[in-house]
Parts: sequence; structure tokens; C-alpha cells
Amino acid sequence: LAYPIDEHRYINVMTIAGSDPSGGAGLQADLKTFASLHCYGMTTITALTAQNTCGVDSIYSLPASFVRQQLKSVFSDINIDAIKIGMLEREEIVVEVAQFLEEKGVAKLPPLVVDPVIYAKSGDQIIDNNAINILKEKIIPFATLLTPNRQEACRLLGRNNICVDDLEEAAKELLKLGTKAVLIKGVDGRDCLLVQEQEKVVWIGGTTDWIDSKNVHGTGCTYSAAITAFLGRGDPLLRAVQKAKIYITEAIRAGATYQQGHGAGPVCH
Ligand code: PLP
Repeated sequence: LAYPIDEHRYINVMTIAGSDPSGGAGLQADLKTFASLHCYGMTTITALTAQNTCGVDSIYSLPASFVRQQLKSVFSDINIDAIKIGMLEREEIVVEVAQFLEEKGVAKLPPLVVDPVIYAKSGDQIIDNNAINILKEKIIPFATLLTPNRQEACRLLGRNNICVDDLEEAAKELLKLGTKAVLIKGVDGRDCLLVQEQEKVVWIGGTTDWIDSKNVHGTGCTYSAAITAFLGRGDPLLRAVQKAKIYITEAIRAGATYQQGHGAGPVCH
């Protein structure tokens, strides 16, 4: 995973996401991942959550106009190499972020990974119902890669379940939302990557990669943040996903032995 570091320039990676004060998920997971992959991490905060390893207690949403202000301040000053979008929380925030990206111009955007965060690992829904449709309509069409887990893929497609045999077909359905590629994560230990231009289905990982750990809080965030970091470093999509898969697998393995809190603990970066 190692890279030579350019001494004159950072690799700048921005996450647009919510805060997890317990440090396992959200923008905290993203920043830890960016740092360990030698990227300069930046954050646009959409919401503050009050949560721990056991679940989400409360969400405090930021005004959509202030989300835009954060984006404006950073983008007007610093060149961004890759963007990750995580928890957008409310319809107004989704609309504001979409408008900002549109104003920047799709062609000028750096690689954009959209993690359609709908549920926390505890099962708590952490996005407004209204925001989900707007996310599909306004954000996903900008994405270089969409990274739902099985549950999120189901919700986006309005289905009850997706089993391994249905995975490719579900990925094809998700591509119709306008993203250039889709990675459905964690279905029976495997991920399915479908890239639009080549109509190519690639299986990432295998059942032997499965690690039995209760410490899976923030795995989705960490995986998509690692993909974003590798894209920011210039890797092509498939390579970025393969490397990120190694990163998340090893982070889960390393975190499995720790006892942190009373519920689902974090991975170890
Ligand atoms: N973003 C925030 C702010 C969260 O609190 C969570 C989960 O708690 C997530 C994203 C998604 O977490 P995971 O990576 O466990 O799916």
C-alpha cells in the first residue's frame, strides 16, 4: 500500500460527512483513514451525532447554508484531489451539496465517492426519509463510485433483500441512477463492483476474507474513505478498490481483539 510522498504537495482529500464523537465512524473514521494512507484530510460537517459503540442517541443537523459555507471556504482556497460524501442527513443539505457540485461543473470535479449512508451499524436510521430520494436524484449522478452496503442497496432500490445471486443485477439497477460505478459491500463476505463503461462485473474479496469480529462500527466509512484516498493518489478505480479492500480487511483484523466500549467497537487503523 505504500506510496512515495511528494514533498511539495499534499494529496488533499475532503469528506462531506457527519461527526461520530466516539470516533469509530463518520468523519472521524474518514480522517483516521486518510491520515494512515498519507493524505491530507479535510471535512465539511453536515451533522453532529451523539453516539457511542452501542448506538445513536441524538442527531444535531447543521444549517444547509453553513454546509455550503464550509465547502465554499475550502474549495476557494485548496485544490482537492478526491471527495467522499457520507452522511447527508437532511433533504436541504443534500440539495445544497448537489447545487455546490453542479456549480463547480461535473467535468471539473475530482473523483467523487458517494457512500449512501442510511443506517448506522446499530441499525439506527441516520438520514431523513425525504433525503433518500433526493440523494438518488441529485447526488448519485455525480458519483465516480457509489458504495452502498446490502441494506442501503435494498433501500435505494426499494427491495426487501438482495442475495449473492442477485448482486450483479442489483448493481446494474443502481448504475441506472447515473453513477459511473457501483460497489455493493459485504454480501456474504464479498463485494460486487460494476463499472459502467465496460459493463464489467468484478468480485472483490472472497468468503475467506471474512473476519468474525464484533468491532465493525465504521467499517463502511473506513472502506469508502480508503477508496477515496487511493483515488486521490491517482490509482485507477479498480486498483483503488482492491487496495482499499486490503486496508479495511486488515483494519478489521487488527481491531478484532480490542475491547472498546460496550457495543460494536471500531476498526484499528
Ligand atoms: N456516518 C456517521 C456520522 C455515522 O454515525 C455512521 C454510523 O454510525 C456512519 C456514517 C456509518 O457507519 P458505518 O461505517 O458503520 O456504516
